Amino acid sequence: MAVKTMVFIDGTWLYKSRAAIFDKLNEPNGFEIDYKKLPVAICEDVANYLDQDVDRVRTLYFGTIPSQRSGFNTGKQSAFYNFLEASCGYDTYIHEVDVNGQEPRNDEQWVVSALSAALIYYAAMDAYDIAIVMGEDENYEPSMRSTRLLGKRIQIVGAHHVINGKPVSQPNAVYLQRMVCDFPPIFIEDHAEEMRLVRTTQKRVCRECGAEEETTWAGPDFFCSQCRSRRHQGE
Ligand SMILES: [Zn+2]
Repeated sequence: MAVKTMVFIDGTWLYKSRAAIFDKLNEPNGFEIDYKKLPVAICEDVANYLDQDVDRVRTLYFGTIPSQRSGFNTGKQSAFYNFLEASCGYDTYIHEVDVNGQEPRNDEQWVVSALSAALIYYAAMDAYDIAIVMGEDENYEPSMRSTRLLGKRIQIVGAHHVINGKPVSQPNAVYLQRMVCDFPPIFIEDHAEEMRLVRTTQKRVCRECGAEEETTWAGPDFFCSQCRSRRHQGE
C-alpha cells in the first residue's frame, strides 16, 4: 500500500535556498525553478529510500506578501502565488504583512507558525503518514515532536549554504534530523539539475483570435503576440 505524504513548503526558506541550487550548478545569476517538479522529485526520493510507493496527498506553500495598504507593487508576487495554485497544484497560505508597521517584522515567524499549525492539524486529521517539510528553522522542533506523538514520521528537506565552494555552517536540517526526524535529510541542491525549468516550445491557439503561434508559455490561457500587445495598450 502506498504511503500518504504531504509536502509542507516554507516559502521564505525556499526563496533563500535557491542560492544552494544555483551554486551547485555554478550559475550565480540563477535560473528559473521548476516548481511543478519540485515536490514530485522530493517524493520520488522518499519513495526510493522507503522502497515503497508514495501518494502525495497535497503540497502546501506558506509565504508572505506586503499588505495592499503599504503602496508596494505586489503584482509580480501575487502572480507567482497564483501560478503556484493554478499551474503547480499547490495550496498556498499567504500572510499579508504590514510593511509600514514597526520594526523588526516577523515574516519568517509567521511562516514557521502557520506551517507548524498545519503540520499538526493534518496529522491529527490522519491526512498523511509522512510529512515532508521543506524548511529547516529550528523552531519547527516542537511541532515536529507533536506530529511524531501522533504516530507520523518526518522527512526534512534542507540546504547546504556554500560560499566560494565551502559550506558556511552545518545545515539546521542535520540538527532537526537528530532531534525529531525519521530519515536522513534530503538536500535540495542534490536535485539541482531536476529543479531547472526547461521550457519546451509548442504551437498554441490564441484564446482571443484563434491564431496559432509557437510559444514556451505553458500557463492556462494563451494569447498571441498581437493580441498581447493590444491588451497591453489597453485598446
Ligand atoms: Zn490572437
